[in-house]
Amino acid sequence: MDSEDYLQLAGIQRYAFCPRQWGLVHLEGHWQENVLTYGGQKLHRNVNNPEFLESRGDVIVSRSVPVRSHRLRLYGIADMVEFIRDEANGIKLAHRAGRWRPLPVEYKYGQSKLTSCDRVQLCAQAMCLEETFDMDLHEGHIFYGRPRRREVVLLSDELRQETREVTEAMYGCQNTGVTPPPEYGKHCERCSLVEVCVPSLSQRQTVSQYLERML
Ligand code: SF4
Repeated sequence: MDSEDYLQLAGIQRYAFCPRQWGLVHLEGHWQENVLTYGGQKLHRNVNNPEFLESRGDVIVSRSVPVRSHRLRLYGIADMVEFIRDEANGIKLAHRAGRWRPLPVEYKYGQSKLTSCDRVQLCAQAMCLEETFDMDLHEGHIFYGRPRRREVVLLSDELRQETREVTEAMYGCQNTGVTPPPEYGKHCERCSLVEVCVPSLSQRQTVSQYLERML
């Protein structure tokens, strides 16, 4: 597979949130805004700036960093990568003395979620950085807007495995070209595509299910 055909890293968060939502957006081209997606776009407009490079003592902050993994077959943009001075475990950077350890920081408009979808996205970014710099990372951060705080995410073996599995499932779905069926749940309340998806239909019985039950 050509690297131009890799899937978007941002889609992994969507697929982990709901495979049908991913299919509606990436296979069928649907998009609707709601207050959460609008807030997220506004937040990212403030964060995204490929020109941004700032040094704060022992930290270099870089925004809108392009990332790619040939192992995961994903590409995308990391909101922010902080390079923290670490002479023991860091890597060399062009035009900078010393050694630096990358720390991916993903920005989210809302609050920390019970599901792992944001952590999976962050882990995919971290795995891209590990591959690029040929090094191991142990944590990343997610900045949530409500309330404003950073969550530390440990890049455990379990989270890495989940990230690989979600990526494979996403590729499986892409290969079939078929949008997964709806699975109605609490997550639908936050979904901007609820009117396109009509998940409540999934709760209705088919005629054969009805007859099976009655007989
Ligand atoms: S409404 Fe629910 S089932 Fe449908 S795409 Fe959104 S989250 Fe998925």
